[in-house]
Amino acid sequence: MALTGPPAAVPGRENPPDRSPVPPPPGGTTESADQAWPPGRRERPVALVQAVARARLATVFAILTVSPLMRMAALRYSVPSGLPSRTGCDACGALVGLTRPWPALGPAARCGRCRARVGPLPWTVEIAGLAGLAAVLLLALAGPSGGALPALAWWLGWTIPAVFVDLAVHRLPDRLTLPAAAGTWLLLGVATLDAEPGHWLRAAVGGAGLALVFASSTLLLGHRGFGLGDAKLALSVGALLGWYGWPVLLLGLLVAFGLSALVSMGLLVARRARWSSHLPFGPFLLLGTMGAILLAG
Ligand SMILES: [Zn+2]
Repeated sequence: MALTGPPAAVPGRENPPDRSPVPPPPGGTTESADQAWPPGRRERPVALVQAVARARLATVFAILTVSPLMRMAALRYSVPSGLPSRTGCDACGALVGLTRPWPALGPAARCGRCRARVGPLPWTVEIAGLAGLAAVLLLALAGPSGGALPALAWWLGWTIPAVFVDLAVHRLPDRLTLPAAAGTWLLLGVATLDAEPGHWLRAAVGGAGLALVFASSTLLLGHRGFGLGDAKLALSVGALLGWYGWPVLLLGLLVAFGLSALVSMGLLVARRARWSSHLPFGPFLLLGTMGAILLAG
C-alpha cells in the first residue's frame, strides 16, 4: 500500500500548507521545486534521445532510398563507352532493377541468384553517400549562407555514382554529368532569388570557364589532356565553387590537382602505374569540390 499511496512525508521536506499535494500534470511544471525537478530531469534526456533517434531514422531512410539509386546508376553505366548499359549480373544474367533491389543494390552488393558481386565494392557507395550527407548537414549547421545547399545535394546525388563509374571504366557518362550540371545550374539560379546576383554571375562564369579550359585541353593535348567527361563535370564543379567565391574555386582546383599529383606519385613509387598511365580525374574533382567548400565554411 505504500507503493500506491502518496509519497511519505520526509521530516523537514513537507509541502508548504498552501500548495496542493496533487502531483504535477504530465509534461507540466509546478512551482514546488521538490516535486518539479525529478520529472524535468527525466524529460530532457527523453527529448534528446527522441531527437537523436529521429535523426538516425531519417539518415537510415535517406541512405536506404538514395544509395540503391546511386548503386544502380554506377552498375548500369560502368561499361566501356559504346557498349549498351548493363542491366543485371555479369555472372548469371539475373536482372537487377529497382523492382527487386535487394541484395544486389544493397550494401552487400551481391547477386540475389548466384551471389556474385554486382557493381561497386560492398559498402563503398553507402559510405560515400553518408559522407556526402554529413558534409551537407555540417554546412547547413555551420557553413556560409545555405542558398547553395540544395544544388550541392543534387550534385552529390549524381556525381557520386559518376565517380564510381570513372573508377571502374575511366569515363564520366553524359547520363550522369549532364543532369548534375543542369540541376546544379537551375538550383543555383533559384538560390539567387534570395542572394546577391554576384553569386550567380560567378557560378556561371566559373562553370562555363572551367568546362571550356578542360575541353580545350582535350582538343590541344588529346589523350594527355582531360576527357570530355571531365569537361562536362567541370560545368557543375565550376558553378558550385564559383558560387562560393573565386578563392574557393581556386582552392578546389588546387586540392583536386594536388591530390591527383600525390596519388600519381604514390602509384609510380609503388610501381602500380607508369608515366603513361591515365588516372581518372572525376574522384579528385569530387574531393576537391567538397574539400574546398568545407574548408571555406
Ligand atoms: Zn548472378
